[in-house]
Amino acid sequence: MSNSYDVIVAGVGAMGSAACWHLARRGLRVLGLERFDLGHAMGSSHGMTRIIRIAYFEGSHYVPIVQRAHQLWKETGAAAGMKLLHVTGSLDLAPRGSGEVEASLQSCLDHGLEHEVLDGGEIAKRFPGFQLPEGHHALWQPDGGFVASEKAIYAHVGLAQSRGAEIRTNEPMLDWRPTADGGVEVRTERGSYSAGRLVITSGGWIADAVPALAANVATVRQAIGWFTTRRPELYREGAFPVFILTVEEGHFYGFPLYEHPGFKLGGPHFGREPMDPRDDDRTPSPRQVALIRECLKRYLPDAAGEPLTLKGCVYSVTPDEDFIIDAVPGVAQAVFASCCSGHGFKFASAIGEILADLSTEGRSAFDLAPFSLARFAA
Ligand SMILES: Cc1cc2nc3c(=O)[nH]c(=O)nc-3n(C[C@H](O)[C@H](O)[C@H](O)COP(=O)(O)OP(=O)(O)OC[C@H]3O[C@@H](n4cnc5c(N)ncnc54)[C@H](O)[C@@H]3O)c2cc1C
Repeated sequence: MSNSYDVIVAGVGAMGSAACWHLARRGLRVLGLERFDLGHAMGSSHGMTRIIRIAYFEGSHYVPIVQRAHQLWKETGAAAGMKLLHVTGSLDLAPRGSGEVEASLQSCLDHGLEHEVLDGGEIAKRFPGFQLPEGHHALWQPDGGFVASEKAIYAHVGLAQSRGAEIRTNEPMLDWRPTADGGVEVRTERGSYSAGRLVITSGGWIADAVPALAANVATVRQAIGWFTTRRPELYREGAFPVFILTVEEGHFYGFPLYEHPGFKLGGPHFGREPMDPRDDDRTPSPRQVALIRECLKRYLPDAAGEPLTLKGCVYSVTPDEDFIIDAVPGVAQAVFASCCSGHGFKFASAIGEILADLSTEGRSAFDLAPFSLARFAA
């Protein structure tokens, strides 16, 4: 077997699996290297579901990319024969005047997205699973929903393999270097590989491969849990949307019931606790779990039963909470994407395509300036 490829992808999680597919579908010879096995629970992408919101309080500049991602989740699911995208509608719920609903609304206005602003009475009427404090309002956007996260990785990998990609699990990239011919050499415990291009998508471990990121990426622990519901009919898919909820305890996010008997809630989104992904312990922090349970008890009381499953997960966060998608400084043939600050999964299908564009054409159809590494140098 040859050890030479057009492109090596280091890290086959959300972003890397999508990059493998978009590169392989262009007829390139692709090698994907993964530290663990496929769909493992040590990184950022496990836990069955990830929210996709089109209305984006984090910034209107994300909207064109998430619209492309939405389309690709449909296409990729159809190509793989799997339902990856579930459209449930999305709610941003926050106190009036706190900024979140207003910022989501602005993104809808900027991009002509269908939406409604709901007051407390309207929220209670449409979604009786919530019991919100006085003064909360919401932005409803009907195209939001969730992506089945591990399934998405399996779909991307299966499609990539069908176009000849080689995927090697439990084989981490140990190090890499640019070569004199303008390519790269990658070393693992099993040997070394050469390629014309390198795509680095190693999530929480990315600063090991791209030391220039170390100053601007922190890895933190995030908790998710599934809880016994007293009234599952209120929270079933079709009756209940995905949501982001801002309350005094923090920012939480939840899903309709899906392939698990429990109601899933995660957070607090900004209540982060530093962790080193090299430490194998993924136990969620008792403090975060207590906050999730308090949030359920106060604001979603019919879903506030005993925990059925609790998990911890890694966020890689940047100082401004925006992504970093760029080439390694001084090495144009090595590009990377990660550090998605806890909101990147929904974009993975489009980021895979962006990485393929950057690797093959040196540019993307999207404005990537907001995601450059250079922004931190200013
Ligand atoms: C609890 C939680 C909830 C979230 N909720 C949402 C949400 O609702 N919506 C949303 O859009 N986003 C959400 N996010 C964020 C989103 O899940 C992440 O942005 C996304 O999963 C990151 O994908 P990734 O490919 O960068 O990382 P991963 O999927 O973790 O992939 C990185 C891969 O690289 C591998 N790797 C590491 N080092 C090496 C190496 N040296 N060689 C080879 N392989 C290596 C790892 O094993 C891993 O498989 C959430 C994140 C968490 C943790």
